[in-house]
Amino acid sequence: MSYKGRKAVDPHVVMAEVIKTKRITPNMMRVTLGGDELARFTATGYDQWFRLFLPRAGQDMLRLPTRASGLWYAEYLTTPKARRPWVRNYTVRAARPDLNELDIDFVLHESGDEASDDSAHAAGPGAGFAQAAEQGVRVGLLDQGVTYNPRHAHDWTLLVADESGLPAVAGICESLPDDARGIAVVEVPTAGDRQEFRTPSGVELRWVVRSDADPHAVPGQAALAELSGLDLARHDGAVYAFAIGESSLATGARRHLVGERGVPKAHVDFVGYWRHGKASPN
Ligand SMILES: Cc1cc2nc3c(=O)[nH]c(=O)nc-3n(C[C@H](O)[C@H](O)[C@H](O)COP(=O)(O)OP(=O)(O)OC[C@H]3O[C@@H](n4cnc5c(N)ncnc54)[C@H](O)[C@@H]3O)c2cc1C
Repeated sequence: MSYKGRKAVDPHVVMAEVIKTKRITPNMMRVTLGGDELARFTATGYDQWFRLFLPRAGQDMLRLPTRASGLWYAEYLTTPKARRPWVRNYTVRAARPDLNELDIDFVLHESGDEASDDSAHAAGPGAGFAQAAEQGVRVGLLDQGVTYNPRHAHDWTLLVADESGLPAVAGICESLPDDARGIAVVEVPTAGDRQEFRTPSGVELRWVVRSDADPHAVPGQAALAELSGLDLARHDGAVYAFAIGESSLATGARRHLVGERGVPKAHVDFVGYWRHGKASPN
């Protein structure tokens, strides 16, 4: 998919440190970052996302790329593997520029590998970092911009996400104008993982609780089923749809909307955030 989002304005690789962590719901850890360099990270609202550079075990020094723009990756690849940090993608859940603070909500997921007997521990460098993060640990951030980007006139918004897209849905709902209309379908692992956030009164938030159906199902499939049953005709006019989360949810939502509901392709954006059973490459 070619990138149709809004690129970051004046991005820099910035260093920040963990100030505190809080388990906000059973499967979500909020990590608050702080530090003077965050003054160079311009928060824009919506689903603003960034590359997060995390130290690997045994690395006492975090080697961050110096280049922003697209060139950071080439620079990253020229660093010997043992000295590279992990890189994962996350969303700005909240920013407090007056305090130079930024919150990230991490899903504490398991590996999705049923043969694994290590399911008590969050799997993957991102989730593992959030679960164990201690005050003062340093990380790097590189702003990547906003993906939610309607490019045609539309009358209402349709958001579909699994729990990895919940921070993005919350950021979008909090950024939409008060008179926005729409539906947000968000799948979460348990009822306790639902969150409260500001939503325009014309936007209906529909939670889909996976454990009510099959707690071991692949995330995103329950949201997809909910989407298939939605009465979209309740809303008049043109829709802008935005589907994010596990890759089959993102592609499945788009296929359903375009193929079965007749939504024009240009009115649907979708981003596979992660792939079931497959770790991120770096
Ligand atoms: C633009 C963008 C924004 C994102 N924002 C957020 C965010 O704010 N919060 C957030 O939690 N995630 C977010 N994600 C998703 C996150 O980048 C991935 O889930 C990533 O794989 C997590 O890295 P990891 O090191 O924990 O796991 P990895 O090392 O990548 O994967 C290890 C194993 O865990 C599985 N896995 C990965 N993620 C999940 C998951 N969410 N649920 C179940 N199993 C999983 C993989 O399939 C693999 O088997 C975002 C992704 C994108 C592209």
